[in-house]
Amino acid sequence: MKAIVIGGGIGGVCAAIALKRFGIETAVYEAVKEIKPVGAAISIWPNGVKCLNYLGMKDALRELGGNMRFMAYKEYQQGQTMTRFSMDPLIQSVGEQPYPVARAELQSMLLETYGRDQVQFGKRVTHVEGSADSVTAWFDDGTSATGDLLIAADGTHSVIRQHVLGYATERRYAGYVNWNGLVEIDESIAPADQWTTFVGEGKRVSLMPVSGNRFYFFFDVPLPKGLPQDRTTVREDLQGYFAGWAEPVQKLISQINPETTNRVEIHDIEPFMQLVKGRIALLGDSGHSTTPDIGQGGCAAMEDAVVLANMLQTNSLGIEDALLRYQEKRAYRVKDLVLKARKRCDVTHGKEMAVTEQWYEDLKTETGERILSGMCETILGGPLE
Ligand code: FAD
Repeated sequence: MKAIVIGGGIGGVCAAIALKRFGIETAVYEAVKEIKPVGAAISIWPNGVKCLNYLGMKDALRELGGNMRFMAYKEYQQGQTMTRFSMDPLIQSVGEQPYPVARAELQSMLLETYGRDQVQFGKRVTHVEGSADSVTAWFDDGTSATGDLLIAADGTHSVIRQHVLGYATERRYAGYVNWNGLVEIDESIAPADQWTTFVGEGKRVSLMPVSGNRFYFFFDVPLPKGLPQDRTTVREDLQGYFAGWAEPVQKLISQINPETTNRVEIHDIEPFMQLVKGRIALLGDSGHSTTPDIGQGGCAAMEDAVVLANMLQTNSLGIEDALLRYQEKRAYRVKDLVLKARKRCDVTHGKEMAVTEQWYEDLKTETGERILSGMCETILGGPLE
């Protein structure tokens, strides 16, 4: 059996690793010549970590992961702590730690595990064709590749999604802009072992530790879509949006490197239940595009990879049947994650300010129990309990 994997991001490479481990021949085709991940880092929650463990990356991931033992919310003007609690109850409940990691390092770990030289870069798919017993992908250099099945891991702007669904989807602007990057840990801004988030005015400023004494930081600001992006004014822009915010936030803004700070307008796609057509399967953001508000998009791609490989490995009724079982196992799970993230997004970013203000009030009486039990439920919904 030969699988063609389109896209060399988190989803595509995890799928290729998973299939290879089960002895299925794979070929990965990636559009760009060199992958430059959008975004500085990513939090891999225990459901994602378990998938990477399962795929043989347990030790490598621990080297890259930050030590995130506590979680805290802080009020925006004075920086006073609204709630602070240990992550240990979560870790004890689900049996694994979360690991925030720098994206470039995650991507390298995945490529090294799979075999970097087995990825064909500079191969952009333009269209695909399925027949009763094979699938062919056509590339923009005029070449093509044929396999027994095709995994479309070509991201949120997927060109294969429309072929599978039979209609075009639209990305929905979630109403806020996110700036993110990496900065050296400075404990006068936040503790080194804590996920710290300052909240107010429907905005947030967050810091998570990753390896190498660095914080992954991000700033969220509700803004109209399509404002001009100018790297040279990033610091001034953030100083304006966060005027009057506490000293640690001002300090963080002064320490960021505008050259390496990313600006992303956050989108998702209305969930759909069809993830496969014949011998083609959507995987990762091509099949479910979410806002990052519960940090689960990449984790869900890892889950997809594990489930898809298991369905192909354990099924004797053929590829199409295995893919339908993959769809059955994944469609509700990923829809749930997208909708949960959308709900969290609206509360966090002041879609209805009264609801957001109530959330700020609730945080002042939060002991960790409610937040961690919500996280637990999300994590335990994954395929590797
Ligand atoms: P991608 O990473 O987009 O990879 C798709 C690949 O396909 C790319 O390399 C692309 O070049 C290639 N490609 C595209 N078109 C073609 C084509 N036509 N032919 C060939 N190749 C093609 N997730 C988490 O789990 N935790 C987090 O904390 C988190 N934080 C996030 C923060 C932000 C600001 C954002 C925007 C997202 C965040 N996510 C997070 C989501 C996560 O980044 C995505 O869900 C994940 O990258 C999806 O992986 P993917 O492989 O499906 O898609």
